[in-house]
Amino acid sequence: MRPGALIRLTWLLVCLATPATGAEQPPGLSADALRFTVANAEFTLMHEMGHLLISELELPVLGREEDAADQLGFMGLFLLHDQQHDAAFYAKLMDVADYWRLEWRRSERTGTEIPVWDSHALDAQRFYNIACLAYGSDPDRLDWVLEVSGLPVERALYCPEEYQQVAHAVQWLRERLQRADSGTPRHRIEVIYDSPPSHLAGGTALLEKIRASGELEAVARKASEAFDLPRDLTLRMTTCGAPDAWFNRISGELTLCYERIAYFRDLAGERPKRRAPQPDRG
Ligand SMILES: [Zn+2]
Repeated sequence: MRPGALIRLTWLLVCLATPATGAEQPPGLSADALRFTVANAEFTLMHEMGHLLISELELPVLGREEDAADQLGFMGLFLLHDQQHDAAFYAKLMDVADYWRLEWRRSERTGTEIPVWDSHALDAQRFYNIACLAYGSDPDRLDWVLEVSGLPVERALYCPEEYQQVAHAVQWLRERLQRADSGTPRHRIEVIYDSPPSHLAGGTALLEKIRASGELEAVARKASEAFDLPRDLTLRMTTCGAPDAWFNRISGELTLCYERIAYFRDLAGERPKRRAPQPDRG
């Protein structure tokens, strides 16, 4: 996951947000809502790329893989937005945290039983974990993260150390596993597009827009150039019937569902309307 090796999904969100006939943003999708959607789409892909790398590169994992994938996903956002660690970037990180807070609050509101047996951390924990890593990445400048997240000082005290530990692990694997030469990779990641859901505006035009952007092909190529993958893999955009994403380690296929992106877009309307001032200090 070297800088630039991963994907920007802005193009995809613009495509999804664009009615077949029209303007770049549909009514009701504010710039903040679009940022929330893009941020979480990016984090979803980075998280699944984490699973892909763990599996394909046989990375040793201490603790739960889902926690490791979240950490790889979080650091993937830093690599994705290299040189752009400004207020807007940190607002995106909090958009990712806020997604988990929304899911947490929704469960509380609806009385949904919490699957404490699940391999993922609880939504509330994923919220605090992301907020902690965000704050810990630059504690001198990110006091506002503590304010908007409500991260208790008992946890915040150790967040810089938590961030450094994760950053060190990612740096460690990059130094050891990046391909040494710039020749043709032995294996590639093939990008496959299935049809988007019929209820999403755009239909065939949407598919063509995504294909024409070449973005998925770019990330697939860069990932295979960055690491010596042990076999050919697949990155598939498809209709799943649920807002999901996953990496299948048997088939070697990373699936990103159109519905997952649309789900973030729909949820964006429920996100916190205002947060503390975020002065842009670079
Ligand atoms: Zn996962």
